[in-house]
Amino acid sequence: MEERKMNTEFEESEGVETDYEKCEACGSNMKYDPKSNMLFCEHCGTKRAFGEGARAEELAIEDALRTETAGNWSEETKVFRCENCGAKVVLAKGETATCCPFCGTAQVVELDELAGIKPNAVLPFRLTQNDSNESCKKWAKRKWFAPNAFKKNLKPENLHGVYVPCFTFDSSTSSRYYGRIGKRHTRTVGSGKNRRTETYIVWRNISGRFNHRFDDVTITAGSKVSQKDLGKMGPFASNEALHYDGKYLLGFSAYHYEKDIVQCWGEAKNAMDAEIKRLILSQYSYDDIDYINISTTHTGVTYKYVLFPVYAGHFSFKKKEYSFFVNGTNGRVTGKTPIAVWKVLLAIVFGLAAVSALCYLVMQFM
Ligand SMILES: [Zn+2]
Ligand SMILES: [Zn+2]
Repeated sequence: MEERKMNTEFEESEGVETDYEKCEACGSNMKYDPKSNMLFCEHCGTKRAFGEGARAEELAIEDALRTETAGNWSEETKVFRCENCGAKVVLAKGETATCCPFCGTAQVVELDELAGIKPNAVLPFRLTQNDSNESCKKWAKRKWFAPNAFKKNLKPENLHGVYVPCFTFDSSTSSRYYGRIGKRHTRTVGSGKNRRTETYIVWRNISGRFNHRFDDVTITAGSKVSQKDLGKMGPFASNEALHYDGKYLLGFSAYHYEKDIVQCWGEAKNAMDAEIKRLILSQYSYDDIDYINISTTHTGVTYKYVLFPVYAGHFSFKKKEYSFFVNGTNGRVTGKTPIAVWKVLLAIVFGLAAVSALCYLVMQFM
């Protein structure tokens, strides 16, 4: 810890950092404040407004796949790794990681690794730690079987604001398809005692063309926050994402991407294929599918490499780790909570008691 602190001071005296990170009044690090949408100094309270940037642009995918034209993020950031859970996080250059946003331990070390491609879009935090903690409390209230210790652990300081890297893709798709679908019918056969109803399927061949325009199909580039988590916390208004500005990162961290754009584009195409299949089949009435072949071409594919704001919380219970996440714009929470066995047992006992009481009452009136 001590060594890293000295390192930071050394860098400061070298004047490596850009001026906007420092408070004019006292020289402390400025942080981004979601409430006021300004930079503020935790030390002396000074606030500084900065203009909200323009909406983020869509970039042509060919450029990203050919060369890394998107810009280098490492000029303004540092990469840290958590020795406990392995998560890599990106911080503004002037800041030092004090704990891992995902598991809360202080075993974070700075790496020589570079942050890679610079995001071109960011959806800034709109909720504070306090706001998100209130959302968590409401969410936890509905978790009847969660241990009391879990609920007591819900404090603003235990939530860590971390930007989650995602790729969003737009594509105009044009598909050809052919297949065979079936509709179930019934008929009566036989006579006398053998008269019965049987089911049979009438098959028909289908084929055609199908066009569909996809907008912002979102794929998470890191495994700690899964595609499912992202969906449950959603929506993230990716169309309102702003042009990336490093100021939004101040006081927060960003999860370092684990999947590159090629891998994420592959996953996005799979998601689009599934949706195209669903849309094509929704035009027909059928009970069975024998087969359906679809071939799709993509044109005008664009992407955004966008940071989504998430508050991450964690809880360890009986040697197991539990994570939960809060959408930093709308407060929607997702995650698993541990289960207190005694609460479940109590519920069963009460349940049995209720059933016995009911039986008793029914017997009285029989
Ligand atoms: Zn200050
Ligand atoms: Zn960790």
